[in-house]
Amino acid sequence: MPMIQRHLFGPGPSNPYPEATAALAHPLLGHLDPAFLEIMDSACDGLREVWGTRNRRTLPLSATGSAGMEAAFVNTVEEGDVVVVAVNGLFGERMCDVAARCGAEVVRVDFPYGQPIDPQQVAEAHPAPKIIAAVHAETSTGVRSDIAALGELKGDALLLVDAVTSIGGIELRADDWGVDLGYAGTQKCLGVAPGLAPFTISDAAFERRVRHPRSWYLDLGMLGGYVGEAQGRARTYHHTAPTAMIASLDAGLRRISAEGLENVWARHQAAGDALQDGLQEMGLELFAAEGHRLPELTTVKVPEGVDSAAVRAHLLEHYSLEIGAGVKEYADTVWRIGLMGPNAHAGSVALVLGALQEALR
Ligand code: PLP
Repeated sequence: MPMIQRHLFGPGPSNPYPEATAALAHPLLGHLDPAFLEIMDSACDGLREVWGTRNRRTLPLSATGSAGMEAAFVNTVEEGDVVVVAVNGLFGERMCDVAARCGAEVVRVDFPYGQPIDPQQVAEAHPAPKIIAAVHAETSTGVRSDIAALGELKGDALLLVDAVTSIGGIELRADDWGVDLGYAGTQKCLGVAPGLAPFTISDAAFERRVRHPRSWYLDLGMLGGYVGEAQGRARTYHHTAPTAMIASLDAGLRRISAEGLENVWARHQAAGDALQDGLQEMGLELFAAEGHRLPELTTVKVPEGVDSAAVRAHLLEHYSLEIGAGVKEYADTVWRIGLMGPNAHAGSVALVLGALQEALR
């Protein structure tokens, strides 16, 4: 089988930074090798930078973003705890499902797909929830929500944030915004392959955790002896960490740090703006509400009479270029175009606009 090279311009995974790919080919290290533990510590430091946090419990969970979501709820929710979830897309809906499975009494606050959440409405949904949960960047709709505003209104609740599509792409300041716990993914703006869930939890939230969560693998109390808070201390075995993936994450994070995190955010913004301007100049209409559009994930309406799937297949066949379909009732009427990590640059914008123009001719 020949190797296939794609332009991964969908909702994720994105193409990784070359440094992250190269690191996968380094000789494999054992998960308790001091040389690997240095890499792990460096990756945790890098994660603190992209999260905008000083939390000592900031670590890559050995699983994808959805496991990060599960870890967040299973470690904090006890039977009957009230969890308010802001829902403006598929991943808010998933949060409701996961929280309910962990025993929460879920108070769901819905907003139309394509619109941001209203922090005031979310904060007023219940007088004393244990947790308020929201998605920072809804990948299903291309919308950014105001987490800082929610942090100001959270009261005594823990603020739980999904940063899967925001981390490493747009402004994210967990500590300044009052985020108590958050999870993310590596496969989007961090520019690393899928497989890890960057996770962070504050000391205060850790104190309020469930002492014997109904998950052994995702028990943060046990994981802490191995990673994150263990920095500089003897490590205890918990599970066999995916050492190659963590080395790759570390390389991706170093690349971001070298470019400068704010420069990386600006690069994503410039690419997203150029793409969104270009699509509108082609006569296409954007789906996400103006003023709340993510630069790293653009949602665009499929023109009347155009076969959405046929266009995507054409782009894949003729340009080796992947874009995503919409979700749920928008599956055939919306495309999702991601310019994340190394793909957030003018060359990708020109390529996707040119290819789409040709496909629609
Ligand atoms: N949350 C958001 C906002 C996402 O975009 C995704 C994946 O696309 C997830 C959660 C789930 O992550 P994963 O697919 O890595 O399990």
